[in-house]
Amino acid sequence: MGPLRADMLKKELEIFTFGDLLNHFPNRHIDKTQISKIGEIRPETEFIQVVGTLMYLDTIGEKRGRRLVAQLKDDTGILELAWFQGITWVQKNLVPGTKYLVFGRTGFFNGKPQIVHPEIESFVPAKAGGQAFLEPVYPSTEKLKVRGLNGRQIGKLTYTLISQLHPDELMENIPAPIVQGLKLMDRYEAHCQIHYPKSAKGFEAAMHRLKFEEFFIAQVRLNLTRLQRHRASRAVVFEKVGEIFNEFYAKYLPFELTGAQKRVLKEIRTDTARGRQMNRLLQGDVGSGKTIVALLSMLLAADNGFQSCMMAPTEILAQQHYKGLSDLLKEMPVEIALLTGSIKTKERKRILQGLLDDTIHFVVGTHAVIEDVVQFKNLGLVIVDEQHRFGVAQRARLWAKATLPPHVLVMTATPIPRTLAMTAYGDLDYSVMDELPPGRIPITTVHRFETARASVMDFVKTELEKGRQIYFIYPLIEESEKLSFEDLMQGYEQVKSFFPEPKYRISMVHGRQPADQKETNMARFVSGDTQIMVSTTVIEVGVNVPNASVMVIESSEKFGLSQLHQLRGRVGRGSEKSFCILLTSVKASKEARERIKIMCATNDGFKIAEKDLELRGPGDIEGTRQSGALNFKLASLVNDKGILEQARLAAEKLVEEDPELLLAKNLQLKNYLQSQKGKNGWSKIS
Ligand code: ADP
Ligand code: MG
Repeated sequence: MGPLRADMLKKELEIFTFGDLLNHFPNRHIDKTQISKIGEIRPETEFIQVVGTLMYLDTIGEKRGRRLVAQLKDDTGILELAWFQGITWVQKNLVPGTKYLVFGRTGFFNGKPQIVHPEIESFVPAKAGGQAFLEPVYPSTEKLKVRGLNGRQIGKLTYTLISQLHPDELMENIPAPIVQGLKLMDRYEAHCQIHYPKSAKGFEAAMHRLKFEEFFIAQVRLNLTRLQRHRASRAVVFEKVGEIFNEFYAKYLPFELTGAQKRVLKEIRTDTARGRQMNRLLQGDVGSGKTIVALLSMLLAADNGFQSCMMAPTEILAQQHYKGLSDLLKEMPVEIALLTGSIKTKERKRILQGLLDDTIHFVVGTHAVIEDVVQFKNLGLVIVDEQHRFGVAQRARLWAKATLPPHVLVMTATPIPRTLAMTAYGDLDYSVMDELPPGRIPITTVHRFETARASVMDFVKTELEKGRQIYFIYPLIEESEKLSFEDLMQGYEQVKSFFPEPKYRISMVHGRQPADQKETNMARFVSGDTQIMVSTTVIEVGVNVPNASVMVIESSEKFGLSQLHQLRGRVGRGSEKSFCILLTSVKASKEARERIKIMCATNDGFKIAEKDLELRGPGDIEGTRQSGALNFKLASLVNDKGILEQARLAAEKLVEEDPELLLAKNLQLKNYLQSQKGKNGWSKIS
């Protein structure tokens, strides 16, 4: 290929090498023998392949409206063709009066069938009695199309490449026992057949093999990273379960732990006793009881002479944790302190001193606890609540606080589907709490149109009269913050008109308020001083008001699934039956209605997360966006769960058996991994 086209390939498709071209996979194949008639084109026809004679070719229009138009004729009708770009080039290469094979997305213009920027090439009849030949069509761009590199023309390049490719130039990278055990197509053959399948079956096998390879290589990497982290990290050892833990467990634990809580606690105990740093992500649905697991882990640290700190994303949440934990620890010989931005200087000094001389054992706070001035005598455990990823920079700051790094437990209530967690967080240790404490009354969720607001308000009133508290949530959308702010204000007025003061008292919280005002309004609702909370999603995370029994979400079609689930988790925390009412406009889109339907159907955060993944794709799931681990070319986390599971098991077994990849059977894999180093933006965690 000439330098000009080579340059275009680099710029448009990032194809620099033969390897890149080989990995530029077709997005479909067409059967050259499948030729339709122009007369068959209907308004609902999507793509079509026809053969006809080029009747006419001319440019019309001026300047930006200039275009090249042509007509293709077969024995059933006439198809209009049009080009808006690359006109000179196309015109030079087409000869009226000759037969062409034309492929493209059909449309109608002035009642006549038309293809804009068709793929067009001289027609060469398929050999009589020849095999059906599946021709690859590749992703291309407008710029490439007009330079003679449309989806089919790229096939000429791959054809040349593959016909010259020798099996030794594309060595197997999956160990032979796995290839044989799982009956995978070999790597060379798979690459040939993904481009030029010998049959539909061959194509499937090639696809399966390449998807497996993608998952497998990613999983091997993650497992190696995790292993290296385990090996490289020395850490404090919590060797025993001592008196503090046991006394609390026997005397002050307010309830029987759920099976899931016990299991996770055991995982944490094993982890922290090993002499390597724990780096565990704990996923538990809203209300699954993560806080008590955190507390028991802190007691375990105390038993071994270590201090703990617990970080919450907001001041309110930190206060709630502090209050809850202090109550539970009232009779215990451990000191706990609250450290947030608003703690006064004198108290702050006392706390800093206490942490330094180990008279304070637990500190609960906001990000203030990892500021450099906060120094510990003996920090052994850090708990991060309600955050997906505890950033690398923050982690580094923790390391600076101790000679040996403390154990880290990150807790999140935004469930992530298992498949996603396996790939996005596969390098972390991972625990799931998929069980709610017994006796919870499930929240009833219903959908109402905004037109039914009056009856919704009537219902709210009956709940208020029973002494319950109510949330009204308004969306806050970044792009139109002004608009949603006005919505919120209007909503506030509306709520006020239904529930006038002084009989009813209303708190309002939103992101534009100064922090102290926000805190005050929130605190009034928490204490029961106000019965109604009008708010944007700022209350989303972690807040616990057990007396709140109804949440009305306005314009709920504007929220994503996991956000709705998080919001809903603010009710149903007490002993009363709770309700979530999702209001939408009657014009809500089909997708939005689908989300609302799912919300009404289930309270299970993991099921909701699965649906979210299906509806939105992995790239959009919160917290996983930057994860290089999700960039798969062929494999899909939604559709290929089975293959992922297979790949994960195989990778785990392999790394366990041969962590250095020293065995002969793993040599090629090792070479492959080394040759690929730096190609993926793998985000290191610790
Ligand atoms: P989350 O996982 O959302 O942080 P919390 O830790 O706030 O959940 O717990 C939610 C509620 O459930 C709290 O009121 C807590 O006391 C209660 N709880 C936790 N574990 C149990 C249990 N095993 N049995 C009964 N109630 C529990
Ligand atoms: Mg919590």
